[in-house]
Amino acid sequence: MTAIAALLSQARAQIPASEARLLLSHVLGQPTAWLEAHREEELEPAAAARFGALIERRAAGEPIAYLVGEREFYGRSFLVTPDVLIPRPETELLVELALAKVGAHPTASILDLGTGSGCLAITLALELPAAHVTAVDASPAALEVARKNARQLGAAVDFIESDWFAALPPQRFDLIVANPPYVAAGDPHLTQGDLRFEPKVALTDGADGLTSIRRIIKAAPAWLAAGGWLFLEHGWDQAAAVEECLAAAGFCALERHRDLAGIERVGGGRIPD
Ligand code: GLN
Repeated sequence: MTAIAALLSQARAQIPASEARLLLSHVLGQPTAWLEAHREEELEPAAAARFGALIERRAAGEPIAYLVGEREFYGRSFLVTPDVLIPRPETELLVELALAKVGAHPTASILDLGTGSGCLAITLALELPAAHVTAVDASPAALEVARKNARQLGAAVDFIESDWFAALPPQRFDLIVANPPYVAAGDPHLTQGDLRFEPKVALTDGADGLTSIRRIIKAAPAWLAAGGWLFLEHGWDQAAAVEECLAAAGFCALERHRDLAGIERVGGGRIPD
């Protein structure tokens, strides 16, 4: 048997120390702080072997979130599997904007297009308990993950299998949010880091990265109430194109927002009253 401190130190030859702590705390079902207080504790061989296997997978590039099966978003833990995009901190900007626009209108009806893990829809449903939140995704496997997250977090969300608006019953929303696939097909990021392991359909349209954004913006006015808002996450170089599409589709009060890294990341606008 080997002590926790020794195992963590051996792991550092293959992966960063912070990642090793996360993986070991996952294997042991203990918070990372627990490891510090139990540095000299011996690990059962079976647990050490499980830890070793996770180190190998991480060293081969698998995302930490898939290895531990969860990722935090807006202060809550969401289950994630390779069927869904891993929630990212920049997407919390969409939550903040949504809350700013409909927070004063607590019974708002909200739609999340391409919900994936459900992180946006579920967060909005929990932050705005009187709102009515609908979430769609074209992937049944993703919807299964999103439904589990909603159940586990106690959120009431209507999940519908739909290719964007295609299968939605006719209605008008006060707010639509989307984090569509916006990475261009040739973007080298697709072949680096976590993105290599995430669902391709959640990342790229296989073209210039704007196909889904254009489709959503074009169709959205027919699904928004007068005065309703649309906000979309987009790529680092897409802000002008998104703004142009929004204007062409009749949106007013156009907005551009930067993420915490200072990159233009979300565009949106309102349907005139
Ligand atoms: N933000 C992701 C990335 O580039 C892409 C997510 C998306 O396409 N919606 O890492």
